[in-house]
Amino acid sequence: MTTPSLPILPTTVVGSYAIPAWLWAAYEKIEAGGFGAMDLAETENDAVETAIRDQERAGVDLISDGEMRRQGFIVSIFKYFRGLRPLEPRRKVGVLAYDGHVLYEPVERISAPDGLGTLKELDYLRQATTRPFKITLPGPLTLATQIRKGGPYRDRLEVAADLAPILNQELRTLAARGARNLQLDDVYQSFLMEPKRLVELYDRCFEGVAVERRFWHICFGTLEGFGFGERSYRPLFPAIASACADQLVLEFANREMAESGLWREFDCSKELGAGVLDLKNFYVESAELVARRIRRVLETVPAERVWINPDCGLARLPRYLAFAKLQALVAGTGQVRYELAGTEPGRTFFRPPPVAPGTSSDT
Ligand SMILES: [Zn+2]
Repeated sequence: MTTPSLPILPTTVVGSYAIPAWLWAAYEKIEAGGFGAMDLAETENDAVETAIRDQERAGVDLISDGEMRRQGFIVSIFKYFRGLRPLEPRRKVGVLAYDGHVLYEPVERISAPDGLGTLKELDYLRQATTRPFKITLPGPLTLATQIRKGGPYRDRLEVAADLAPILNQELRTLAARGARNLQLDDVYQSFLMEPKRLVELYDRCFEGVAVERRFWHICFGTLEGFGFGERSYRPLFPAIASACADQLVLEFANREMAESGLWREFDCSKELGAGVLDLKNFYVESAELVARRIRRVLETVPAERVWINPDCGLARLPRYLAFAKLQALVAGTGQVRYELAGTEPGRTFFRPPPVAPGTSSDT
């Protein structure tokens, strides 16, 4: 089975969706031991339904489950790993920052005998939506940034090398169960990551994984609006073009569309998932602004290879804002689709509702 046919410039998300107020409240109760297994399952399912319905209502073509079962981009993945000891965060007061995370210390070789929990996500999504969807996982080096060297590991690259086969097993199982679109997410830290090594690790994760589309989201971090490193994709080229990924999902909007010309410069044949929603910004883009950003990308990448998405996951936004931004994403994409089809932009999307017979005011 293949994904139902998608329009030109398919719209999608990066992964996570905004967490509703009631879910934040539930987290506190869950942490205090106030939820039973059924309470937890129902709450997670309700959260996933909220994320799915919002994406469907906004008109997103290829959706996700909002990563609503994860409680943070990578935090909950760690509960599946064996061989790690949590360390106290180095900062516990003040604003949340990269030094406020729990770090882990290896005490033996890392394993995940029960997988990483994504099969549950796949099974639920399949019965909850008729839209095509993707399942996402953090990449091995990104996971390794939360693990210190120690035990059997001399450095984080050795840790990442041991995480890659675990991710590979998870992706293989997802593919065998019918997942068609799989994605790894990496936070690019130019000072830490050797591009060639990053590509090798990505390819190792997807070894023998037969799916329709392999996505690779690489961003510069979005924790409380903060990045992690110099915000340039240039150091990744040309190495990145040889990865087995079908599509690179990158952030552009918050960098005012800088580097959208890299595709032409390096003759990159991959699809580009272009980030056109700035998530480090509290305003809602107009459809016109989204359309302008897309046109900028189309100056150097053929439309047949371009997908449209937010810069990153939406988990750090309030829900109303995430939803409004997704609506703008879809409307702006609609404008450009009409242009590509040779019709006037905007007219169909922004036509006022039809006036009922006999109530016209212009007679
Ligand atoms: Zn991201």
